Amino acid sequence: GDDVAKPTDMAKDKLLGGLLAAGFDEHSCLSQYESNLYRKTSPYKPSPYLLSKLRNYEDLHKRCGPNTQSYNKTVEQLKSGRSVGSTDCKYVVWVCYSGLGNRILTLASVFLYALLTERVLLVDRGKDMADLFCEPFPEKSWFLPLNFPITDKFKSIGQKSPESYGNMLKNNIIKPSTESLPSYIYLHLAHDYDDYDKLFFCDDDQALLKKVPWLIVKTDNYFIPSLFLMPSFEHELSMLFPQKETIFHHLGRYLFHPSNHVWGLITRYYNAYLAKADERIGIQVRIFDGPGPYQYVKNQISACILGEKLLPEVDIRGSIATPSENPKVKAVLVTSLVAGYFENLRNMYWEHPTVTGDIIGVHQPSHEEQQQTENPLHNMKAWAEMYLLSLTDVLVTSAWSTFGYVAQGLGGLKPWILYKSENQTTPNPPCQRAMSMEPCFHAPPFYDCKAKKGIDTGRVVPHVRHCEDISWGLKVV
Ligand code: GDP
Repeated sequence: GDDVAKPTDMAKDKLLGGLLAAGFDEHSCLSQYESNLYRKTSPYKPSPYLLSKLRNYEDLHKRCGPNTQSYNKTVEQLKSGRSVGSTDCKYVVWVCYSGLGNRILTLASVFLYALLTERVLLVDRGKDMADLFCEPFPEKSWFLPLNFPITDKFKSIGQKSPESYGNMLKNNIIKPSTESLPSYIYLHLAHDYDDYDKLFFCDDDQALLKKVPWLIVKTDNYFIPSLFLMPSFEHELSMLFPQKETIFHHLGRYLFHPSNHVWGLITRYYNAYLAKADERIGIQVRIFDGPGPYQYVKNQISACILGEKLLPEVDIRGSIATPSENPKVKAVLVTSLVAGYFENLRNMYWEHPTVTGDIIGVHQPSHEEQQQTENPLHNMKAWAEMYLLSLTDVLVTSAWSTFGYVAQGLGGLKPWILYKSENQTTPNPPCQRAMSMEPCFHAPPFYDCKAKKGIDTGRVVPHVRHCEDISWGLKVV
């Protein structure tokens, strides 16, 4: 059909089917133009409407971005505290918060919100955002200037902050009818948000927020599925994403280009260990039970990959490989904070021949032992590993993990999800194929804005459902 790329345009798809704007400096961001050398052309084509929306956004960003006249004028309003009349540019600021997988998903969510509401996205660079990613928009930076007047609030701002939308509603400081609005509102959309904060997902509240020049967002959730349940965004979203499960796939490939330093980590690893294989299998192991490694998880990984025939069985008694007409070399990329799961698989395929005669090489780039949110090389490795996983042909991920969601989305892969274990036992079945490649929204609201009562938001429309890995989560399918 029309939505599938034809072999003729696969030749040199540097701009990813028109997703990327032409005219960037190729040396300052190698990954932007070299990703097509490592990735297969996506079978999912971005809609012409999405492409025109992105080009329009780029123009808006050029006109309103950091240090433009419009930006300076709107910052003046922020300093004065009141929003006086309408401004020609309105902004949404993404505050750097949480682990890297979470950050990538929330940044995509806030960008889509910016597209839908005609705001300019500006990114708080935190400690390391500028070391991890290239600039995605032509000419003007996406980073919030360092002298932005309220940057020092970003660290402490949270659920209890009086300037949050939820608290302003609760304390009757603003109502939908309020005329005089503050120059900025903080949107608390993190996992601990309350029922007032969640009114962000109601159309009436969006009508009020529309008038505020600065919105500051802190979130650790991929909140896009709930935008699909809002009548005011419905039509636009269906035009942007006629193939619904491709939202993060397209936005992620548009926004997230590894910096040259990270691109070096990715390409050296890929060329050394993955490039020559006939098939690449990614296994992302993220266990929330403690440091590990655990035997019940080793058993779960084997049960999943052998049960689903993602890798061949080994002949435990045999010592000589079964002769095969056409043995394949399969490269397995394991990512995990610990080495134990990788060692178990590698030893299995070293100590015993496969029943098919296929040759299995098992590799793991790092084992950092612990999550370290603030160490720059640590996050560079984490980003490189998410990206490497996205270059595999077959992907196995861990339940609950945004690290895996990023890999599956960028790769356009429907992974096999390793279920979260209960009471330190191997789940049965050990894994399940995902319904779609979209990430899961872990903490969605369960509220019907019109009826003003609780509802099961996973049963409102057929394309927004509960997730495979978190029963109360929501994902687009
Ligand atoms: P989530 O917690 O699984 O949803 O993913 P996040 O990326 O938000 O946070 C986990 C953090 O732990 C990552 O950002 C990394 O810093 C680290 N981490 C977890 N798993 C791995 C891994 O397999 N490899 C590396 N290098 N880091 C990991």
